[in-house]
Amino acid sequence: MATDTAHASSAFVDDFMSYVEERSPHQPEFHQAVREVVSSLEVVLEARPEYRRHRILERLVEPERVIQFRVPWMDDDGDVHVNRGYRVEFNSAIGPYKGGLRFHNSVNLSVLKFLGFEQIFKNSLTGLPIGGGKGGSDFSPSGRSDMEVMRFCQSFMTELQRHIGADTDVPAGDIGVGGREIGYMFGQYRRIQNKFTGTITGRAADWGGSLLRPEATGYGCVYFAAEMLAAKGRTLEGMNCLVSGSGNVAQYTTEKINELGGKVLTLSDSGGWIHDENGIDAEKLAFVMDLKNNRRGRISEYAEKFPNAKWYPATGGSEGNPLWSVPADAAFPSATQNEIMGVDATHLVENKIQLVAEGANMPTTADGQAIFMEHGVLYGPAKAANAGGVAVSALEMSQASQRLQWSREEVDKHLKRVMKGIHDGCVHAAESFGHEGNYIHGSNIAGFTKVADSMIQQGLI
Ligand code: NDP
Repeated sequence: MATDTAHASSAFVDDFMSYVEERSPHQPEFHQAVREVVSSLEVVLEARPEYRRHRILERLVEPERVIQFRVPWMDDDGDVHVNRGYRVEFNSAIGPYKGGLRFHNSVNLSVLKFLGFEQIFKNSLTGLPIGGGKGGSDFSPSGRSDMEVMRFCQSFMTELQRHIGADTDVPAGDIGVGGREIGYMFGQYRRIQNKFTGTITGRAADWGGSLLRPEATGYGCVYFAAEMLAAKGRTLEGMNCLVSGSGNVAQYTTEKINELGGKVLTLSDSGGWIHDENGIDAEKLAFVMDLKNNRRGRISEYAEKFPNAKWYPATGGSEGNPLWSVPADAAFPSATQNEIMGVDATHLVENKIQLVAEGANMPTTADGQAIFMEHGVLYGPAKAANAGGVAVSALEMSQASQRLQWSREEVDKHLKRVMKGIHDGCVHAAESFGHEGNYIHGSNIAGFTKVADSMIQQGLI
């Protein structure tokens, strides 16, 4: 296990970050994502000077296109609201832009640029022909009626539809965008375009969706964790696991951990978190799925239903999130970015955490990553560990082109193969550049080289 730090600072990295920060000021999440990737690449640029000559890094951090638009909509009381819609079409060197839409009041250009930038490398790692993009709005569906969500989605798609297409840009879901929102947006797209195409993934199985797409990110993350453990001759069997969030990724992460013999002790939402020492088994998970997906309730209701469990309100702040202080063997952050800070990582390693696999995007801050590296934690970074969702989205695109639907078993087989391929690709890239056992460097390097080579081969565009 390598002990090199996550974001080794160097004159090269600092100079490049000054350039990025000057060109894109006030975008802290985007800077954080770029710094992490660039910190892995100095050694690659030394070995391959053509990347510098072609100014690949400077071109990579500049999105090919950013679309920003007004989204007006009316609530149930007849009041008019105005939100902001975005699509960041970051890089299409290896395929059509592909990446989710996030609807949450924290969405801004910095957040979407970080997500779109990460998506370039993640999509490259899958080995499938998909470029990187991301979009969304500062609208939160939480607390809104179905009709309000429908009116918002229709207004959002009325503008977005002119920029996307099955061979151009293929959005999917993310925070705040699940089956309901995908349905309303696809309906509006189809109505305006008068075409039934695979332009949006995450569709229901009855109208062109792939079986296993809802499960794919969570399942894939646990498959990745299992690969990291297998490389050490171990399994998830009997491991106590911490999961954060209680949405799509958290739910299917929990389901797969249970299937592989682990025990999930925690879940959370923005209001607080629950601790169930007995484990969140299949029956309790079914309650969570109904609560969150159908009744749109709060995780506090779990402790009312299962009184042996305890609910704690969200605290935040510099003392960290107490969820990460629960003693456990493995952690699966599955809520949002920067949810594991340095202080949380310290609590996790004090409790001898062995493995962290990231279902959420960039859930660990740079100092948190450094603590995991120093303590030899098996650390699966988001762009590798949570790539299963976009991989099955790409398989949904293939099925749409073929006008066929593959069986659940077939999709699962592909998903396992992709996650193993990503794992092995990370290990190989890390070893090739002297960072054995470091999945951060491995994922950044393996994701980068394919995109960089493709950009050079396609000329200066
Ligand atoms: P969901 O909207 O289904 O669930 C998100 C969960 O995280 C909810 O429990 C939500 O709580 C909680 N959450 C969101 N924001 C915050 C916040 N600021 N503070 C505390 N809790 C928060 O989203 P997903 O499960 O789809 O996405 C979760 C993460 O996984 C994101 O980082 C996303 O980018 C990433 N991801 C998702 C993929 C997918 O296929 N869906 C693919 C790859 C990555 P509440 O209900 O209270 O809002």
